[in-house]
Amino acid sequence: MSDTIEHVKCLIIGSGPAGYTAAIYASRANLNPVMYQGMQPGGQLTTTTEVDNFPGYPEGISGPEMMVQLEAQAKRFGTDVRYGLVTKVDFTGPIHKAWIDNEKEIHADTVVISTGASARYLGLESEQHYLKNGGGVSACAVCDGFFYKGQDVLIVGAGDSACEEASYLANLCTKVTMLVRRDEFRASRIMKKRVENIENIEILYNSELHEVLGDGNVVTGAKIRNNKTEEITEIAVTGAFIAIGHTPNTEIFKPYIELHDNGYIKNIPGTSKTNVDGVFVSGDAADHVYKQAVTAAGTGCMAALDAERYLAARED
Ligand code: NDP
Repeated sequence: MSDTIEHVKCLIIGSGPAGYTAAIYASRANLNPVMYQGMQPGGQLTTTTEVDNFPGYPEGISGPEMMVQLEAQAKRFGTDVRYGLVTKVDFTGPIHKAWIDNEKEIHADTVVISTGASARYLGLESEQHYLKNGGGVSACAVCDGFFYKGQDVLIVGAGDSACEEASYLANLCTKVTMLVRRDEFRASRIMKKRVENIENIEILYNSELHEVLGDGNVVTGAKIRNNKTEEITEIAVTGAFIAIGHTPNTEIFKPYIELHDNGYIKNIPGTSKTNVDGVFVSGDAADHVYKQAVTAAGTGCMAALDAERYLAARED
C-alpha cells in the first residue's frame, strides 16, 4: 500500500445533521470516524436562519450555530473532521475506496454517505439577493413558514412538495399565491385537489416569478409574468417560497449504488443499508419525503449503528 493511501474504519462523507450524528455515534463506538465535510460544510442548514423545530432548543437556534455545535460534539468524541470534497469513489471491492479532491486516496472498511440534497432555485438575481440576506426567500416552508404568520406569501412550483408546502403555509398565512408555470400540475391528483380546495390558496397557471421586489433588506412583493400573454403583474407579498425540487448529491455514487429514478439513494427499508455491503446512507441523500434536520439526524444514528454492527459481524 503506498504512503499516500490512508486506511480508516469509518469514512463519513458530508457534514449536515446526518453526517454529524453518524460521527457522534461512530466515535463513541470506537470506529474512529474520519469525516470529509464537502462543498458546503454544515450542509443546507447553514443557509437557513432560525431553526425552531429541532427538539432541545426551546428558544430556537440559528442554522449555522447549530452546525458549529454539532461539529464540536462530534469532535469531542474524537471524530477527525476534515475540509475536503470526495470527488470519486470505487465500491467494487471489499475495501471501499474514495478520493479526496481528486488526490488523496482513502480506503475505508465502512462508508456513511450523508451528502444531502441541494434545493433548486430559479437563478434570478433578486431571488438570490433575498435568499442570502434571509430577507424573505426560502426553499423550506416547514423551516421558515412560521415567520410569515398572518402575512401574504407566494410559492413557486407545482409538484407534490409545492402542494404540501402551500397547504402548510395556508395554515399560517393569510393568503398563498401559487405560481404554476404550465397549465397543469405535476403533483399527484390528490395533492392538487388538496390545494384547490383550500380557500386562501390562489393558483395562477402559466405564471412565473419574474422578479422578487423589496427594499434591499426584506421582500415586499413580486413581479409575475404570464408566459402565455407576456403580461407582467405585481403582487404584494412578504415571503417567496421556492419549491421546484431538490437535487440529491449522489452523482459520484451512481456507478455503484442503486438509486431511485429521481437520483435518491435506495436504502433497504427500515435500515441505512445500501446495495453495497459496508456502505450506508443517511439524511437527504436517501430521503425525498421528510427532508428535516431531525429525520436526517435520526438516520445518521442508524447508519453509525449499522456500520458498527457490520464491522462486529465481520470480526466474529
Ligand atoms: P418535482 O420535480 O416533482 O416538481 C418540481 C415542480 O417544480 C414541477 O411542478 C416543475 O414544473 C416546477 N419547476 C421546476 N423548475 C421550475 C422553474 N424553473 N420555474 C417554475 N417551476 C419550476 O419535485 P418535488 O420536490 O415536488 O417532488 C420530488 C419527488 O418527491 C416527487 O417524486 C414527489 O412525488 C415526491 N414527493 C412526495 C411527497 C409525498 O408523497 N407526500 C411529498 C413531496 C415530494 P413542471 O411540472 O412544469 O416541470
